Amino acid sequence: MAKEINWKELGFNYLKTNCMYVSYWKDGVWDDGELVEDHKLSIDASATSLHYGQQSFEGMKAYRAKDGRILLFRPEMNARRMNRTAKRLMMPEIPEEKYIDAVKQVVKANEEFIPPYGTGGSLYIRPMEIGVGANLGVTAAPEYLFAVFVSPVGAYFKGGMTPIDLVTTEYDRAATYGTGQAKCGGNYAASLLPHNEAVKAGFADCIYLDPLTHTKIDEAGAANFFAITKDNKFVTPKSPSILESVTKISLLQVC
Ligand SMILES: *Cc1c(COP(=O)(O)O)cnc(C)c1O
Repeated sequence: MAKEINWKELGFNYLKTNCMYVSYWKDGVWDDGELVEDHKLSIDASATSLHYGQQSFEGMKAYRAKDGRILLFRPEMNARRMNRTAKRLMMPEIPEEKYIDAVKQVVKANEEFIPPYGTGGSLYIRPMEIGVGANLGVTAAPEYLFAVFVSPVGAYFKGGMTPIDLVTTEYDRAATYGTGQAKCGGNYAASLLPHNEAVKAGFADCIYLDPLTHTKIDEAGAANFFAITKDNKFVTPKSPSILESVTKISLLQVC
């Protein structure tokens, strides 16, 4: 119940909302999709998403503006990125209009869960596409599911807008010409241990180095890296193994 939420105490935990959106792809077409109250999915145990990592996700937010409007930040950029991931993993693309319509439907239906303006919270939106349907060999799935769920969240890093300490790691999250540019689960499973070790050593997260030479900064576990030099230049890595960040592209455009 949204009424029971203490907006200022929100962390980055999953809180159930009214409903989520699901749509299925079969025989070359997406169905219309619908909002469902069930927060569980029923899929085949042999689904490619469960064994071979054929799955992707996106992360974006809805904000309550001062004047009461609900704002999304460049959702089409996330829709396009999800389709770049889909191509890399041989999953069907989701039409941009379908993606944005799904996001809007879920946000509207869960409007009461958008943290009020000024609390620092937002409604986290998690679109996902996964391979479903019976399958055994390492091949692309016969069917796909596109879902969007939401959850009210506070700041991602506990300190909020305060400086954090990061440390470089010996591990890679993705190979140089691997799936670093795709927002797919495998990269994040690979990042759990390095993240955990960084946290145990007293840091907020780790910074990955370029996988080929380990001499240049690639990116952090869930964010691109950028810096302003003493002579006021915006610098950010160019690398085939990082996830192209909407935040970074937007900052580059502003610069
Ligand atoms: C999602 C993600 C980002 C940030 O992307 P934004 O579009 O700025 O939210 C950066 N790096 C990694 C590894 C990510 O998973």
